Amino acid sequence: MQTRGYDVVVIGAGAAGLQCAALAAQRGRRVLVLERSAKPGRKILMSGGGRCNFTNLDVTPANYLSENPHFCKSALSRYTQWDFIDLVAKHGVAWHEKKLGQLFCDHGAEDILNLLLKECEIAGVTIKTRCEIQELDGQDPFSILTSLGRFEADSVVIASGGLSIPSMGSTGFGYQVARQFGLNVLPQRAGLVPFTFSDAVGAMAKRLSGLSLEVVLENSRQSFREDLLFTHRGLSGPAVLQLSSWWREGESVTANLLPAIDATGWLQTCKREQPKSLLRSIISEHIPRKLVLELEAFWWPAFAETPLAEISNKNLDAIATKINAWQLKPAGTEGYRTAEVTLGGVDTKELSSRTMEATKKSGLFFIGEVIDVTGWLGGYNFQWAWSSAYAAAMAV
Ligand SMILES: Cc1cc2nc3c(=O)[nH]c(=O)nc-3n(C[C@H](O)[C@H](O)[C@H](O)COP(=O)(O)OP(=O)(O)OC[C@H]3O[C@@H](n4cnc5c(N)ncnc54)[C@H](O)[C@@H]3O)c2cc1C
Repeated sequence: MQTRGYDVVVIGAGAAGLQCAALAAQRGRRVLVLERSAKPGRKILMSGGGRCNFTNLDVTPANYLSENPHFCKSALSRYTQWDFIDLVAKHGVAWHEKKLGQLFCDHGAEDILNLLLKECEIAGVTIKTRCEIQELDGQDPFSILTSLGRFEADSVVIASGGLSIPSMGSTGFGYQVARQFGLNVLPQRAGLVPFTFSDAVGAMAKRLSGLSLEVVLENSRQSFREDLLFTHRGLSGPAVLQLSSWWREGESVTANLLPAIDATGWLQTCKREQPKSLLRSIISEHIPRKLVLELEAFWWPAFAETPLAEISNKNLDAIATKINAWQLKPAGTEGYRTAEVTLGGVDTKELSSRTMEATKKSGLFFIGEVIDVTGWLGGYNFQWAWSSAYAAAMAV
């Protein structure tokens, strides 16, 4: 079997792998990308609802979860959101800010994938798809046995992503390679993922499917003021996706359905000023009526037809407390099937924060989602892919 030699073999043609390959090739390296799927960048195409939220105007290390919150600092500062925005501008890709600094393509996510493929093509990167890695031998040089033949390289970059959306080509490959070379891998769990419920909330969510409202959703670790969406499977929307990364099995979360209003004071005022009104009419001024009718059946069925004046202050306060602090106990999440990211992964203690190279194995690099660095919702995960890819590309 003929063996072909490269300076760098990148495993995985996703966001991080393509960016790293293009940048390394621009430095004169002979680069080969090996991708298991039939097409590169499939996750890019489905990202951001098909418009790819490719970065955020306001990227800080505080937008990332990791056992070591300092690890991401160096890479994020050396290749910033402005560097990627410049690249987007160079390719004439039209974009807009949706909200909270989140930048999306005007036309479609394929603009970002095409941009990366163009950069790879100009720089002379070879991309091979439908390629199964059978063996990675860590001699000097690395020897990689694949379904398409054997390749050798001085550097190997693992850009194979995490476990989210297995149908998009996700595998635990990167973790296996890390373990093969004696690197610690932290436990993984699904992040940016909808909650499921086995109690009455699940059935209620199904009936309200499609309804959304702004809430403050929080637990003891984090708080987000964003939209909550009822779905036929449970709760989703940005507030839920964000908090899911901070949620642990068995825990409750709290939803404030009226984040701008102290419901206790407000209901007491209403009782004085509109004593004949019903609770559902008052609350429907601020919360969608369909949801109010569901809450009524849950929280004040005995007072459904009782004028405010006849509801005791104690009962009114109890209802107000629920509105401002609804305790929800998810049964679980939808898991990797729909999760946008994988938390945990290759322990950052095993990598150089400047180059992403394994400290125990010279020439072996890890970039993107496979590492224990996970961004918030809002373009932060792609920015980590671009930044970590740059760090490795400058070192291979
Ligand atoms: C539905 C959805 C929407 C998202 N939207 C956004 C968004 O708008 N903004 C944002 O910032 N983030 C978003 N994300 C997260 C973002 O897609 C990831 O953080 C990012 O793709 C990670 O890039 P990566 O290159 O590390 O991994 P991936 O993009 O997962 O790429 C890994 C590649 O490696 C390949 N691979 C895996 N195993 C092997 C193997 N053994 N051999 C060869 N190849 C292999 C895979 O097929 C894949 O092509 C979204 C995720 C999902 C699932």
